[in-house]
Amino acid sequence: DYPLPAPNVTRWYHMQAIALAGNSGVVITHVDITARKLAEHELGYQATHDPLTGLPNRALLISRLEVELARARTTRTRVATVFIDLDDFKDINDAFGHDHGDRIITTVAKRLSDQLEPGDLVARLGGDEYVLVLPDIGPDWDPAVVLGRLRDALNEPISLDITSVKISASMGLVTSPPHTGDAKDVLRDADTAMYVSKRSGRDQWTAFDERLRQRVMARLITNERVEHALAAGEFLLYFQPIVDLRTGRTVASEALLRWRDPEQGLLRPDAFLPALETGPLMSVVGAWVVDEALATQAAWQQVAGFEDHQMTVNVSPRQVGRGELLPTLASRLAHHDLNPERLTIEILEESLVQTGASAEAEITAIHDLGVKVAIDDFGTGYSSVAYLQQFPVDVLKIDKAFLRARDRARTTRVMRAISQLAHAVGSVSLVEGVETD
Ligand code: GH3
Ligand code: MG
Repeated sequence: DYPLPAPNVTRWYHMQAIALAGNSGVVITHVDITARKLAEHELGYQATHDPLTGLPNRALLISRLEVELARARTTRTRVATVFIDLDDFKDINDAFGHDHGDRIITTVAKRLSDQLEPGDLVARLGGDEYVLVLPDIGPDWDPAVVLGRLRDALNEPISLDITSVKISASMGLVTSPPHTGDAKDVLRDADTAMYVSKRSGRDQWTAFDERLRQRVMARLITNERVEHALAAGEFLLYFQPIVDLRTGRTVASEALLRWRDPEQGLLRPDAFLPALETGPLMSVVGAWVVDEALATQAAWQQVAGFEDHQMTVNVSPRQVGRGELLPTLASRLAHHDLNPERLTIEILEESLVQTGASAEAEITAIHDLGVKVAIDDFGTGYSSVAYLQQFPVDVLKIDKAFLRARDRARTTRVMRAISQLAHAVGSVSLVEGVETD
């Protein structure tokens, strides 16, 4: 886990060659720097390992997990991450004392290490929390077998001086893929799954999946919590630039909602929007997004080169067809003294389907204000083409799934056809997912 500077070298020297004047020779000096090298190594070791168990700590875990996730992406393999938290460990500490508690922590570290295959990693996050990383799991990898074995190993009684104690742990499993996201996301979600094991009675494991995220989020995202987040300024916008390839200029920006939760860190909309959309506060957050994006647009269009800048705001299907979006847009545009043509709203095809006639009326009225209308993820939703007849659409954003299709020639033909369709109804087509040269 933490290689020595060079295992087969016993001394380290700093060598220096000095050429003498007049090409008369070379003097070579050397200084023994072995002590410094070993001290550096020791410092590096201390910074990356837990002193009690000698296991890698959180910092080393995250960097190793990051490497394994990247490797899995290129080699198309899977990585399993298991989050482990001992059950009722406070009680054990209270009953047997802190020293015995420490002994249990080191025993668990040893038992987990004994379960590892070459290339696996076990880390202690601190307290009674451990994480296993099992890279390169094959298609036949069975979580029930592997986590069942971990559970059995942990349940084995631990003997302390005159008595022995049986412990258990709650575990959460993330496999990547299907999980995408970086090391910190993986740990957060494995922790979430572990927490579900705790709530379901401890001494068991839970696999993380999207449904679980939504379930946990829906419970966490109460109206009070969202109101607090709005008041505390925890919502923020990221802006993705849209660049005109002919000129290289940023002609537009898409406002993307984020939530900086003090405990969970920066959350992307897929983590909280589904839960938010089932509650009454979606329109309040939606109105905040509109206001914040328009305030930004008002500031940016003062900047040289950004006079024509266009701001794009995503609108949830929940906001369309309820008679709230139109007045919100009209009042915020007036408040920021903005030309409506500088604003584009992006809606999903499903917004058009779900709400029918009232959506049609509202979108038409918004379009009549001068605001542009874009259809997001075009081509993957419902009967897309029929809606082009009905709704005023300025921009079609062709879903990136089309771009990823294997058959390039076919992709080109399909893209061209969609593009012609867009032109036929007076819209511009735009391809999603083009983010590099
Ligand atoms: P739960 O089943 O909900 O996990 O209950 P728990 O009692 O295990 O509570 P939790 O995991 O939240 O807290 C872990 C406890 O572990 C807190 C502290 O008393 C104890 N602990 C943390 N670090 C150490 C340590 O280094 N040595 C010892 N002996 N105990 C520790
Ligand atoms: Mg615990």
